[in-house]
Amino acid sequence: MAIRNLRLEGDEILSKKSRQVDVIDEKIRTLIDDMIETMHKYNGVGLAAVQVGILKRVIVIDLYDGSGPIAMINPVIIKTKGEVELEEGCLSFPNKFAKVKRPEEVTAEFIDIEGNTIRVEAKELLAQAICHEVDHLNGEVFIDKIIPGTLEYVEPEEEGKK
Ligand code: ZN
Repeated sequence: MAIRNLRLEGDEILSKKSRQVDVIDEKIRTLIDDMIETMHKYNGVGLAAVQVGILKRVIVIDLYDGSGPIAMINPVIIKTKGEVELEEGCLSFPNKFAKVKRPEEVTAEFIDIEGNTIRVEAKELLAQAICHEVDHLNGEVFIDKIIPGTLEYVEPEEEGKK
């Protein structure tokens, strides 16, 4: 496993659309391992492959609730319900937070690392993370859909202060 370089605000790759994954091979498995390690290193809840410079429809999510990280290949949102305003951030936009409108619940389908098709009914943080990461696969970033006036810049914590 390896930490990959994060693509940050201003990098034009973030506005590109990612391609479907046709075969889950060693390259995809390594990509997923590296994405999980990179997400954990920066304490992210989710990461899309485009954020490490790979235009493939792969996302990883970890809610840090003890259930461990999940990898979703070719995720599709099938159904949404309700609407909520939620605080959001993104590893590609360090220290920036803002409110966005997201569905309250989503039904999504994806392929897992074993090649199985999985359907998930998600709410709260998982629903928000799936929406945020699927947006990345379509070349969309949260900063383009924030509720006006809610953008905040939070100073990074000092080194060594936890
Ligand atoms: Zn993001």
